[in-house]
Amino acid sequence: MNWKEELQYNISSIDELKQYVTVAPAEEESLRQIIALHPMSITRYYLSLANKEDPADPIAKMSIPSLWEMDQEGSYDTGGELKSTIVNGLQHKYPSTALVTITNQCSSYCRYCFRKRIVGLPDEDIKDKIREIARHIRARPQIYNVLVSGGDPLILDNDLIRFILQELAGIETLEYIRFGTKIPVVFPQRLLEDDELMALLAEFSEKRKQLYVVTHFNHPRELAPAAVAAVQRVKKTGVVVNNQTVLMRGINDDPEVLSGLLRGLVKIGVNPYYVFQCRPVKRVKANFQLPLQEGCRIVEQAKSALDGHAKRFKYVLSHEAGKIEILGFLNGAMLFKYHQAEDVHKQDQVFLRQVGSADTWLQDLP
Ligand code: SF4
Repeated sequence: MNWKEELQYNISSIDELKQYVTVAPAEEESLRQIIALHPMSITRYYLSLANKEDPADPIAKMSIPSLWEMDQEGSYDTGGELKSTIVNGLQHKYPSTALVTITNQCSSYCRYCFRKRIVGLPDEDIKDKIREIARHIRARPQIYNVLVSGGDPLILDNDLIRFILQELAGIETLEYIRFGTKIPVVFPQRLLEDDELMALLAEFSEKRKQLYVVTHFNHPRELAPAAVAAVQRVKKTGVVVNNQTVLMRGINDDPEVLSGLLRGLVKIGVNPYYVFQCRPVKRVKANFQLPLQEGCRIVEQAKSALDGHAKRFKYVLSHEAGKIEILGFLNGAMLFKYHQAEDVHKQDQVFLRQVGSADTWLQDLP
């Protein structure tokens, strides 16, 4: 069975799910309604990592829908993505960086996804889309790097990935290309079994533009042997692998778990890049978001168990106003710094805010 055929066996209906975990009859109808809105699709590999006897299992919590998703507090566009979109699939919020959301598809859908508004929707013609996007990037020479995201771009066929790379690598002003992907975590088979994809990554990374892969490990148990082997394979192609983690209730809100994850990443040569404050996303916030004070304490305690290399990451919230680093506590308030501001004049601003113990986000920024 090749990787595409394997994906056909994803768990994507409540009836299939019931073969693996207990679903309370009283919850069934609500869960069906939830996945009609936000699809469920879990690779068999990823579900095999879950302890199905444990109702609080983090792998299960990240992939199986729950009644918490009935809670609609929050927004579907917490980072102002619609405002930053200049053409379908291309966001330009910070001067030097462009974000391409090339596909709405993923190998497995995460219940905490902040792009819930688009994931699972059908794709348009990807070649047309990337041609148009490349044209807009070419017209903006200040953009020197691009993040190709989605959905998950590595779900695409190799010929499409080649086409995307050709279009982007042909833009002289682009210095490097990043791919955001969860494939190593949820579906490493895609990387372990596809020599053609590895050759493609090596071809571009060595001869055309430096490639980066940004993975998305959230829990040490995701660093399973197959995922580690997949990461090693990607690294052998010359691609640099970084990781971003979302800090989430019931997943990694324990300093030991978080430090174990970050240490585990460094051990396999993956650079911890960001730890994100979970966004106030509709149908996500109630289940996963932690208060800022609590999050900051967890992150700082985790850091105290780590060496300098493993704590190079920044703890940030990705706000409509920009990426804001959460620095810590000062005189009873919390200290923040713009890491990447939409308004360049704010770029180096440090600011204090009174943050209540239950506050989870900075609501009062322009
Ligand atoms: S793989 Fe990424 S884009 Fe897809 S559902 Fe998960 S977090 Fe969202």
